[in-house]
Amino acid sequence: MVKDLLNVDKLKNYIDGEWHEVEKSTGVVNPATGEKIVDVPLSDKGAVDQAAAAAKRAQKEWALVPAPQRAEILYEVGNIMKERKEEIAKLLTLENGKVLEEAMGEVQEGIDMAFYMAGEGRRLFGQTTPAELQNKFAMSVREPIGVVGIITPWNFPIAIATWKSFPAIVAGNAVVWKPATETPIMAHKMIEIFEEAGLPKGVMNVVYGSGSSVGDAMVHHDDIQVISFTGSNEVGRSIARDCGSQLKKYSLEMGGKNAVIVMEDADLDLAVEGIIWSAFGTSGQRCTACSRVIVHEDVKEELEEKILKGMKQLSIGNGLDEGVRVGPVINEAGMEKIQKYIEIGKEEGAKLLAGGHVMDEGDYSKGHYFAPTLFTDATGDMRIAQEEIFGPVLALIPVSSFDEAIEINNSVSYGLSSSIFTQDVNKVFKAKRDLDTGIVYVNAGTTGAEIHLPFGGSKGTGNGHRDSGIQALDVFTEWKAVYVDFSGKLQRAQIDTE
Ligand code: NDP
Repeated sequence: MVKDLLNVDKLKNYIDGEWHEVEKSTGVVNPATGEKIVDVPLSDKGAVDQAAAAAKRAQKEWALVPAPQRAEILYEVGNIMKERKEEIAKLLTLENGKVLEEAMGEVQEGIDMAFYMAGEGRRLFGQTTPAELQNKFAMSVREPIGVVGIITPWNFPIAIATWKSFPAIVAGNAVVWKPATETPIMAHKMIEIFEEAGLPKGVMNVVYGSGSSVGDAMVHHDDIQVISFTGSNEVGRSIARDCGSQLKKYSLEMGGKNAVIVMEDADLDLAVEGIIWSAFGTSGQRCTACSRVIVHEDVKEELEEKILKGMKQLSIGNGLDEGVRVGPVINEAGMEKIQKYIEIGKEEGAKLLAGGHVMDEGDYSKGHYFAPTLFTDATGDMRIAQEEIFGPVLALIPVSSFDEAIEINNSVSYGLSSSIFTQDVNKVFKAKRDLDTGIVYVNAGTTGAEIHLPFGGSKGTGNGHRDSGIQALDVFTEWKAVYVDFSGKLQRAQIDTE
């Protein structure tokens, strides 16, 4: 199938509007079948130098193109993505494993982002303000920063790239993008689309390669002025250290340890639907995945039974097959990490109610499949309730009050998403105020962000920036304050106040 959808066997870097072959490469494997689907370059620092130089040249011209005209290209990008939605989604399932329906949803996020950010081309609002002195005018305007380095993970290989590149481009920056080595095809497709939409050469460049080589070279490159990163906490921290010492701007979106709180008055059937979708969709490999259920003790047993019943209905397999709800895990390292946490959970004394094992019989043996897993009687301080597992593993934590539920929700080092199921309006508003995450859902699971709202988290999840929403523009623009004095004399602020 890959051959029908992708016209190359080996991907190439894209620098200054040209495809560049790289000698060294590695194979990309379909996690559902274990088959190699394409080769991806393993570039070195030299390719980053070339891409940064091309971006620097192109950006000067691009910044002078009126923003509404820059936006026209994003409208075109959105239209092409819409036409090719299914083809892109199938390739996404092939390289990442997520089920086709979810892949279609991810591509849709990119389409929505294209149209939303294209709209910003006619806004990019600054402020006009009063001035302190007579015959003086004051305003603030957004300016592009220059060359932006984008480093993306494998779990949302197209959506996250659009959250970052579209605002960067509409604001007048040029981009060097390093996609995750596991999921490079989405970058190839995006470049084809940018080309077709008429994006000038050098505005968007892709350099494939490992994080330790290409990613690191981008972080340390003098001509790359901003790094926008989504990925693990460990890599994010090292990027923060390196950018900090260079006084380089950086935006980080990292992990989560997201919880659904189920109070005693909740609609339990609705809660179970939300929990199952949030915990096992994308095989639990979403940064917003629910991996903890904090449940009031009065409804704990009933909820457990309903979750187990719901889990039995999950069909696990190749995401391209009809009816499959849970696809494979990305790779062997992911499987090992999940397995390790199953052992930790058992040793800590949590009770394993379902799953907890690799699925390796029959067709499953070809891919990376892990059985959806449910622990119960976990406590908030256990490692399985504190650390990100990034797999289809859920831990139930019983509590006896609303206050205890909030306290346990907030006891983790991450702060991405949380949710509460309750019918009590007072609890809803207290939860909205007291849950210390960047995203709060009421009577819905922990996943499913809309692109016109800010996406990101507090505490160990990020560094205060947001992807998507107009807030994303703050990452890719510099504020400039402009004063125009039309008095014809030198007026001195804070001094000529009479
Ligand atoms: P990684 O941090 O391993 O990788 C993310 C990206 O960073 C990849 O492109 C990787 O390249 C690159 N990279 C790795 N090392 C370096 C380095 N030293 N310098 C620069 N770049 C580097 O994360 P995963 O790909 O494993 O993604 C999963 C993680 O991402 C999870 O923790 C998840 O929670 C988080 N995530 C957070 C989201 C959010 O918005 N909060 C959204 C999605 C995921 P390569 O892999 O090619 O080596």
